[in-house]
Amino acid sequence: MSDCIFCKIRDGAIPSEKVYEDDKMFIIKDIDPKAKRHYLMIPKRHFKLLSEMTPADAEDLSYSLKKLPELSSLLGLEGGYRLVINQGDDAGQTVFHLHVHVMCGQPLDFPDLRKGK
Ligand code: 5GP
Ligand code: ZN
Repeated sequence: MSDCIFCKIRDGAIPSEKVYEDDKMFIIKDIDPKAKRHYLMIPKRHFKLLSEMTPADAEDLSYSLKKLPELSSLLGLEGGYRLVINQGDDAGQTVFHLHVHVMCGQPLDFPDLRKGK
């Protein structure tokens, strides 16, 4: 998609340091980290929402998730990690190319999101 920031990063039109890349997905450091280590795991095939996922998209997403154990020492996942997919407005999704946040490198608290209502 021509106006998608992650497609542009995928294609090298926006420079980035890719921590990992293969033919199906790539991993970059989040520009605004919310944990000591915060990566974005991004399937190369552009799609916006889980509800719009084609069987081929689903295969790429599942491929990406299954790849994580192999990338454990590269990403520093040994102590544990948290995966987040933000979908839609309530979740605050800002980039509409499906991506998985991978957060690690510290104990991760689990906030009660009902607080503050
Ligand atoms: P979302 O809110 O859509 O789940 O997450 C989008 C994430 O992409 C945010 O955490 C944001 O910091 C990150 N991000 C947005 N633009 C860029 C960029 O140009 N480079 C990198 N590395 N991360 C970005
Ligand atoms: Zn895209």
